[in-house]
Amino acid sequence: MAIELTETNRSALRARYRAERDKRLRPDGNEQYLEPSGRFANLLDDTYTAPFERDAIDTDVTVLVVGAGFAGLVIGARLKQAGIEDVRLVDKAGDVGGVWYWNRYPGAMCDTAAMVYLPLMEEVGTVPSAKYVAAPEIHAHARRIADTFGLYDGALLSTGIESIIWDDAISRYVVRTDRGDVLRAKFVCMGTGPLHRPKLPGVPGIHDFAGHAFHTSRWDWAYTGGDPTGAPMTGLADKRVGIIGTGATAVQCIPHLSRSAKELLVFQRTPSAIDERNNHPIDREWFAALESGWQRKWMMNFATLQMMGFAEEDLVKDGWTDISQRIRDRMIELIGAGGTAGPETLLRAYEESDDEKMSEIRARVDALVGDARTAEALKPWYRQLCKRPCFHDEYLQSFNNPNTRLVDTDGQGVERIDATGVWVGGVHHELDCLVIASGFEVGTSYSRRSGYDVTGAGGRALSDKWEEGMRSLHGIHVHGFPNLLIVGIAQGANQIANVPQNYVENGLAIAGVVAHAERTGAARVEPTLEAEDAWVDFITSTQRGLRANPDCTPGYYNNEGRPMGRRELLNGSGHPAGPIAFFEHLESWRSTGEFAGLEFTA
Ligand code: NDP
Repeated sequence: MAIELTETNRSALRARYRAERDKRLRPDGNEQYLEPSGRFANLLDDTYTAPFERDAIDTDVTVLVVGAGFAGLVIGARLKQAGIEDVRLVDKAGDVGGVWYWNRYPGAMCDTAAMVYLPLMEEVGTVPSAKYVAAPEIHAHARRIADTFGLYDGALLSTGIESIIWDDAISRYVVRTDRGDVLRAKFVCMGTGPLHRPKLPGVPGIHDFAGHAFHTSRWDWAYTGGDPTGAPMTGLADKRVGIIGTGATAVQCIPHLSRSAKELLVFQRTPSAIDERNNHPIDREWFAALESGWQRKWMMNFATLQMMGFAEEDLVKDGWTDISQRIRDRMIELIGAGGTAGPETLLRAYEESDDEKMSEIRARVDALVGDARTAEALKPWYRQLCKRPCFHDEYLQSFNNPNTRLVDTDGQGVERIDATGVWVGGVHHELDCLVIASGFEVGTSYSRRSGYDVTGAGGRALSDKWEEGMRSLHGIHVHGFPNLLIVGIAQGANQIANVPQNYVENGLAIAGVVAHAERTGAARVEPTLEAEDAWVDFITSTQRGLRANPDCTPGYYNNEGRPMGRRELLNGSGHPAGPIAFFEHLESWRSTGEFAGLEFTA
């Protein structure tokens, strides 16, 4: 679908984008969302695992890993590979899997190709069924990692952390849990992930709704009928169902709700950009013929192309690599026509490629949605990376089903909720069931999201140290917090299109540091303040990333449209030259065995 864009319609597009953004900007930003409380307090509970009693334990451990999602599992596996046997995972969930444990809504699947998304596939022998795989298959892979590396042994599941406090006298963290456990951990790895605390839309009256309501991350299968593998939700056959939110989660579950509910009302504040999915099965013979080491090659190829780099072949070839390759190709074109190879040309290439891509995405809505008014309302008017890009081959068509209606709020969101339903633009919509697809806390403080703090040397809390923004060496080590290892994406590769790759690569460095400490008898490992400062200066020296554009419509990618201050810059930074540069840097840093910037003390 080639779209001809002239200077005139480009500037009209800019004006439309700004107008749509302005409509949505609100002074309360992140503060608009509500924490689960009152009738929604149970949203933080684990509804998937039956409660059980166990005796509290009091013990020493070499490495305690907080979180048993892909972050914790990959770090656990890397530690075991490095010969560290005494590893304990702790998670409030009843099983490993993290977001893939909690998110069991119908249609849940990963938008990133399984070949690069599922970590450690070669190590555990997973063969993906398709290019993109569904949540149960991803959860099964997580369990396989735990089995393969013996990570269920000693794991404390259905266990919440209450405090993590460094004790200088014993050079260990004393970790207490909500089951009365006391664990003295030589090292603590924090693999808590970015998207685990559900949030509620800040709609007046939300607590008054008397019908059935639940958040997508705690899908109520007992009420809806069906199951996560796709069995029909017969419990909804006589129900008028409403869903608030049209982000990546809602896009995946709406086709299923549309198939099952008597009536479905989709309350939309901002439409998502829906590109094509094009899923297909993986040929087992082709897969079996892949050479050893294929997965790292695929991951690096994806990261290279997704960040506008060059590679002979696009192995994954999807919507993530498409946009950056368009930018790269446009950049070459502009330079060929006399442009300079600098940031101005890059920005122009980005803008033009993005205009083209988003025009195609809007044309796709027209092609797939029958009703012209509904189609118009489903069109996204912003740059693709302002919000999480979505990929789906059935979502838009759902609005052609006679039982499914889009209730567009023109950027304002749901007005209010009462006992019987939802109000939008002065119109009341009666509902039996309200599905809340409003996402997870992202911009709030670390201690608020986790419910506890980490206390380092001298009694300083991590939330205090990071009050003005994260500070670390490589996004892993924090001065003042000996033996604490952060397992995340920020201040490292910041590879958001394939989050597990951050863990796979960082895990090698983390395991290398722990193994070195164990080998040399070091009791304490900590980055110097100079090394931490130098790293923070380095990663904040150049603004990377095109998504923090001030013209962006609000969302969690851009601090809900609020100005990006120093704190947001620090929390969202990565290596200025991108993920590949960071992974290469980390590999050479660990390979020398010197771990420059870290102090190992006996
Ligand atoms: P999001 O935060 O992306 O979406 C929340 C939705 O709720 C938005 O559409 C938002 O509108 C809407 N909303 C919030 N408040 C209101 C209101 N008052 N009235 C009406 N609508 C409202 O959450 P998701 O759970 O969809 O996704 C979270 C993240 O999880 C994704 O960005 C992605 O990273 C990850 N994910 C990944 C998947 C994968 O394939 N790997 C699949 C699913 C999720 P608005 O846009 O206007 O703010």
